[in-house]
Amino acid sequence: MSSQLSSQKKFLNQKNFSLYISSQEILDKIQSLASLINHDYADKKPVLLVILNGAFRFSADLVRYIDIDVEIQFLRLASYKGTESTGEIKKILGLTTHLADRHVLILEDIVDTGLTAHQIWQDLQAQKPASLALMTLLLKPDALSIPVECAYVGFSIPNQFVVGYGLDFDQQGREWNDIYVAEEASQPPKGE
Ligand code: 5GP
Repeated sequence: MSSQLSSQKKFLNQKNFSLYISSQEILDKIQSLASLINHDYADKKPVLLVILNGAFRFSADLVRYIDIDVEIQFLRLASYKGTESTGEIKKILGLTTHLADRHVLILEDIVDTGLTAHQIWQDLQAQKPASLALMTLLLKPDALSIPVECAYVGFSIPNQFVVGYGLDFDQQGREWNDIYVAEEASQPPKGE
């Protein structure tokens, strides 16, 4: 029990973390994101594509507030080494639904450099969906190295390392109900 109680500070892998976004703030935000989906996708039966692992908590709480028909799919990205010029390539695993002519909403935990979201976007666009959009719980605008169209953003945060609520630090911390930031000078998140 004690690890799940909110505390102001956490210590993990020799690093100090401080409470950044509380569980209640996250859930309030998720409720408003779900209302947007209910409104924007009414009668569209969208496919929600959950990007694992990080978005598992976000998506599970999000669908509690969704009251339209949706399909839910889970995707994983496998990294492998490309050629020297292409560097690391990520391949999508787990897609079983044909997305042609479907309304597709990608659910991400965090967009940092944007490279992952960009790659997913390109791969899905090739399937010619009726529409394609991205919802991310967290966005680090200052870290983007490639333009990414984020239609729905929970919180814009500075370029700092965060853990909790699905986001890990070497596979730890995903179970935390709140989001914590690695201790350095931290600035408050901006609600969208
Ligand atoms: P990208 O840089 O491609 O936008 O993000 C790649 C992945 O890096 C994200 O899906 C996430 O798993 C991880 N990542 C980026 N920033 C953070 C962060 O602040 N904390 C954690 N735990 N993971 C992050």
